[in-house]
Amino acid sequence: MRKRPQKRNQQEEYIPLDKDDLKRALEVPVKEIKEEDIITVEKPGKKTKRRKTKIELKTKTLREDVKIHEDKDESKGGKEYTLIITEKPQAALKIASALGNARKYTELNVPYYELTKENKKIIVACAVGHLFTLTSKEKGYPIFSISWEADFKRNPWAKRYYSLLKKLAKNAQEFIIATDYDIEGEVIGWNIVRFIAKEKDAKRMKFSTLTSQELEYSYKNLQSTINWGQAIAGETRHFLDWMYGINLSRALMSSIQKAGRFKIMSIGRVQGPALNLIVKKEILIRNFKPEPYWQIFIKLQGHKPELKYEKDITKKQDLDKFKNLQGKKGIATTEKIPRSILPPFPFDLTSLQREAYRLYGINPARTLQLAQNLYLAGLISYPRTSSQKIPFSINPKAILKRLESRFKETQFIKRNKPVEGGKSDPAHPSIYPTGDFENLKEEEEKIYNLIVKRFISCFCDNAEVEDKKISFVEEKDKLRFVASGLEIKNKGWMNVYPMQIKELLIEPIEGEKVIEKSTIEQKETQPPRRYTPASIITELEKRNLGTKATRANIIETLYNRNYVKSQSIEATPLGIKLISTLDNYSPVIIDEKLTRHFEKEMDAIQEAKKNLLQLEEKTIKEAKEAITKIAQDFKKNEDKIGKELIEATQEIYEQEKADNTLQLCPVCKKGNLRILFNRKFRRSFAACSNYPECKTTFSLPPGLIKKTEKACEKCGWPKLLRIQKGKRPWEFCFNPNCETRNKAKQD
Ligand SMILES: [Zn+2]
Ligand SMILES: [Zn+2]
Repeated sequence: MRKRPQKRNQQEEYIPLDKDDLKRALEVPVKEIKEEDIITVEKPGKKTKRRKTKIELKTKTLREDVKIHEDKDESKGGKEYTLIITEKPQAALKIASALGNARKYTELNVPYYELTKENKKIIVACAVGHLFTLTSKEKGYPIFSISWEADFKRNPWAKRYYSLLKKLAKNAQEFIIATDYDIEGEVIGWNIVRFIAKEKDAKRMKFSTLTSQELEYSYKNLQSTINWGQAIAGETRHFLDWMYGINLSRALMSSIQKAGRFKIMSIGRVQGPALNLIVKKEILIRNFKPEPYWQIFIKLQGHKPELKYEKDITKKQDLDKFKNLQGKKGIATTEKIPRSILPPFPFDLTSLQREAYRLYGINPARTLQLAQNLYLAGLISYPRTSSQKIPFSINPKAILKRLESRFKETQFIKRNKPVEGGKSDPAHPSIYPTGDFENLKEEEEKIYNLIVKRFISCFCDNAEVEDKKISFVEEKDKLRFVASGLEIKNKGWMNVYPMQIKELLIEPIEGEKVIEKSTIEQKETQPPRRYTPASIITELEKRNLGTKATRANIIETLYNRNYVKSQSIEATPLGIKLISTLDNYSPVIIDEKLTRHFEKEMDAIQEAKKNLLQLEEKTIKEAKEAITKIAQDFKKNEDKIGKELIEATQEIYEQEKADNTLQLCPVCKKGNLRILFNRKFRRSFAACSNYPECKTTFSLPPGLIKKTEKACEKCGWPKLLRIQKGKRPWEFCFNPNCETRNKAKQD
């Protein structure tokens, strides 16, 4: 047999999964684990090497060859143009093309645009998210002196944007901030105004979509000042999160070092209470004792529907009266109840995330990212909103008209005024389509279509349904049995939006009937259900923890820290131990009430019209007090805290070792084969634990390799599962001599 070059056809050597396997396999969260997130347990005293943490950018080091395209005559005059600053490059392009005939220039590989409007020269340039981060030079904990610095450690490419903005700001006469209109965007803009432009204030464009129409309107109706409520509230949030983050991490690390080990651990201001919620649920599940209960079903002579006794029976002795039901008579009646169901409310971010998860299994963090892409493409309005309103000002009629050609669903529109929910947002309306189109990638299209359909359905009729309730009362003991059905009479909005209600047709039953047979089923009470990535976000929102923009990320971080795992969110032993340790020694960290209190104060700052700085100061003072208290708690008990946490990581390490142990080594029959990871080649491989005596190894395909519970049908070796981003999961036998491998090669 001709040998194939091994490298090229690696994939064909493994057996593809069937659909059911695929579904299950995808439930394993695929994580790109960053080095700083990996929890490493090392020998006493030895510290993991830390890279230099900060590259401070000095103006002097800027490249001097940055040239701004400008007319020679004008450049001597100095201040001669208006500089519009956006948050992202795409937004700069949109704004420039909305305002006029723009020319594109590129400096330092960063685009900017120039145009003339009403004899005024305008340059549109962009940041790339945050150009400044909070830092402190202080050591130890607690520390409170912080300042904003241009820090490009996390995103070195941001330096080029910083440099170009600095250069362009020099000759600008007027500044207009056009970052996303929310607290983050305002902080990004304010920092550019004060640290790059060296100005006290700037004008502000307010918009919810990147459509030409709205951008032009926004430019003509400039706000005379940046939104100080958003700016100060945003800065306060950054200060709080940073002070909590750094001090709590240092406290944890210091405790662990005291216990003689070093590993990276951290917990944040909202992460603490969020993890606490998940851990509490986990403990409920662990302590849950299933209780038996019974349900009694009957079937009536000549009728199909199964009727259930109206209550569940919890005491076994109560079952006696159901033992001889057969042949007993009774009277059946059927009640029909018409019901009108309103269309669902317009999407705010949380409900979009929840629906995308429910319908397509897309995680909330991913949904936000996809929605952000759609916003930047000008296809939908700003997604970070809490609003469930569709204001008249967005001209919904015109949008619906534009959607007509692509979405036949518009034929079901009946309402003049859309349905709306109770929640509103000072900065933006609900998420709605702009009516513009573009070819989209698969996932983006799913989210886009969902948003369009939700929007259209808000203008549709109620769905009309009829509930049917059959009731049969047995004549001797007056035992009541029931069944219910649902018929959709008029689909209304359900013609448009993916349906949420299942039809269940049952025939009505009337008059005296005889029980043909009865059955008793024993069941068990079920433990509470774990949170899903979507339901935890809803829960955090209900409890006013975190913001709409940050909740999905907070949960992602808990995964990255190994505090939780799986798609139905399960607290790991480390997460549970962390919470119980904090609860014992410093419960303030996981105190939901305090976190909520701070959220309220920051919301108040955003809405406040005056005394913003005093409010900021007050909130920060309170945070300092809380952190000082936490620091005292820790310093008192560092040894104990460290010891408890080390035990927990040791447990996890042992667990991981067990999870990666495959079978007895077929060569030496002494050691066990285990899945190990080669950092240098970034590949997993299987090796014998009896190394160096036994040097048996097996190479494995690239990607995340996991043990499955299945054995190979041909050779009996444990099957492995390979999960790799963007590829179908593969289940395979790693035995090089197994016939499944040869078969796969021939196919
Ligand atoms: Zn061996
Ligand atoms: Zn095999």
